[in-house]
Amino acid sequence: MTACKACVLTCMDFRIQSAVANWLRERGLSGKYDYLALPGASRNFVAEGKLALVEYSYRLHHIQEVYLVHHEDCGAYSLGDLPVEEQLARQRQDMELAARLLKERHPELKVYLAFLYLDGRMVELTG
Ligand SMILES: [Zn+2]
Repeated sequence: MTACKACVLTCMDFRIQSAVANWLRERGLSGKYDYLALPGASRNFVAEGKLALVEYSYRLHHIQEVYLVHHEDCGAYSLGDLPVEEQLARQRQDMELAARLLKERHPELKVYLAFLYLDGRMVELTG
């Protein structure tokens, strides 16, 4: 039986699903992650119960890594009129807050932040 290595929290947006799956496959994670696809990914991380869901994955499957994957033109943020780098900067605040909360509660977890452009480029941010 393959162990679960990671929990992935990304957006539900249909436009990003295949790119996210491909990126995870390239990282060797196929079949080794719990997958949470919810509006805005880590936006409102605590208030919308996302922290609790990631911790559910942690307790059930003993994950070592968490991936927070946000994307350009996210409907949950309604920032689509802004330049993409501003969208990224705004979303990054939420990603970093979520990463900080996770690491405070589970210092052994590795948390990775990534942002997907709609042209298919995935950029990993240093957390
Ligand atoms: Zn979205």
